[in-house]
Amino acid sequence: MSNDTIDIASKELWERAKTIYLSTLFNEQEKSQAENYFSMITSVSVEGNVFLVRATNKFAADFLRDKYAGKLKSALDLAGGDKEQVIEFKEDERSRPAIIVPTYEPKPQPQYQSYAPTPAKPNQYISTLPLEENYTFEEFVQGASNSWAYAAAKGVAKHPGLKNSNPLFIHGGTGLGKTHLMQAIGNDLRKTNPQMSICYLTAETFLNEYINSLQTKDMSVFREKYRNFDVLLVDDIQFLQKGKQCQEEFFNTFNYLTTNHKQIVMTSDVAPKNLPALEERLISRFEGGMVQEIEAPGYETRLAILQKKAEGMTPSVPLSTLQFLAENIKSHVRAIEGALAKVHVTMQINPTQELTPEFLAFLLKDVIEKEQSMRNITLREIQERVARKYGVTVKQILSADRTQSLVTPRQLAMYISRKYSNKSLQEISKEFDKKHATIIHGVKTIQNRLDVDANLKNVLEEILHEFGYKITDNQE
Ligand code: ADP
Ligand code: MG
Repeated sequence: MSNDTIDIASKELWERAKTIYLSTLFNEQEKSQAENYFSMITSVSVEGNVFLVRATNKFAADFLRDKYAGKLKSALDLAGGDKEQVIEFKEDERSRPAIIVPTYEPKPQPQYQSYAPTPAKPNQYISTLPLEENYTFEEFVQGASNSWAYAAAKGVAKHPGLKNSNPLFIHGGTGLGKTHLMQAIGNDLRKTNPQMSICYLTAETFLNEYINSLQTKDMSVFREKYRNFDVLLVDDIQFLQKGKQCQEEFFNTFNYLTTNHKQIVMTSDVAPKNLPALEERLISRFEGGMVQEIEAPGYETRLAILQKKAEGMTPSVPLSTLQFLAENIKSHVRAIEGALAKVHVTMQINPTQELTPEFLAFLLKDVIEKEQSMRNITLREIQERVARKYGVTVKQILSADRTQSLVTPRQLAMYISRKYSNKSLQEISKEFDKKHATIIHGVKTIQNRLDVDANLKNVLEEILHEFGYKITDNQE
């Protein structure tokens, strides 16, 4: 066989393997994430005993290896690959980095200067809200759940205003470090580029200021102010959904700044495409830069974060205690920090207290119960609560009757089961006696409606409250 034939055969095998692997992912989010990562692959080939996958840069290759090597090897076997072959990931030397990574050093090029924002009015409005000193890159623990967002944020701090990462859009659940990363960019730039004017604010502040200036009729002052920054950091952009007119103003500011190579960074609790009340043109502008997600951290990262947060605490918190916290508190980093603070205060007040698992379980009873109550919740309980809330029966929820007054509670019960219980799609599908696709569709429908339907959101909140949970707690 010629080399070309081998390459074509391995490419086909690779395409089949990818299709097989993606078809095993039930979760849309996981799927689009995998597709995202796979788009970093530039070529595949077989070299001796090795199925070689090349990626845009070393960072991408390392990441793909860590996260997908085993799974892709199984998929290759299933697709008809040689079982003796091993899978390898390497940086594709010929390829230019597709994303900014910490090691990325753009070649000095004459036109680069023109990308560097010319300082506006220095330090005129450093920030509408002060930056938190501790929210730095050094204090941020990297892990698989956040490494892309971290790399992108570092890249922006190093070279603000570069086209391929402007705007940078970071999304993910609450308490997972979005604000921290965004402010780290601000803190870093203030050190490295003190002449730059940087503004950090939440979209809610932007909205409020916009409304105020409408009332006081000094719109031009407002407009001028936000066009004067070199770097605009807008936290929780989902709030912009509340104001249609304000979106127009933001759109104009956005265009003005990006056209002038000023950097914009935004965070949101969901991906741009899941911001249904935002204008289409804003969404496509957001997607035109770099979009990165932060996910809930796994055990190793949770422990590393705890170790970082516990550094320098006196008395020092024993490793076994940190491990206990990392094992038992999984939902988000803010909850983990809260638990650590509670343990530390207890140690200060009562230094002789032994930190046994029993004592810790007692001390952190509330937070642990909250985590467990949702994980152990049964699907039947969810169906019953939702049925009761809507004045229908569980039997009707499980029926195939497509009357709207039954479809909503049915889909809401599916949504809660999927987002707030630890049951798999298979289990949910069995318990609801519906196909996987029907469950996925139901969950999506509710997800979309929640953004625009305040009544539905209230009902959801009430039901979750009965389970001791809040709407923002579904990070696992
Ligand atoms: P979000 O904006 O996503 O709701 P925050 O950025 O406010 O979350 O993070 C909540 C808390 O968790 C902060 O105190 C932050 O320092 C901490 N945190 C989150 N992720 C990390 C991480 N990877 N490393 C260190 N601290 C983190
Ligand atoms: Mg935040």
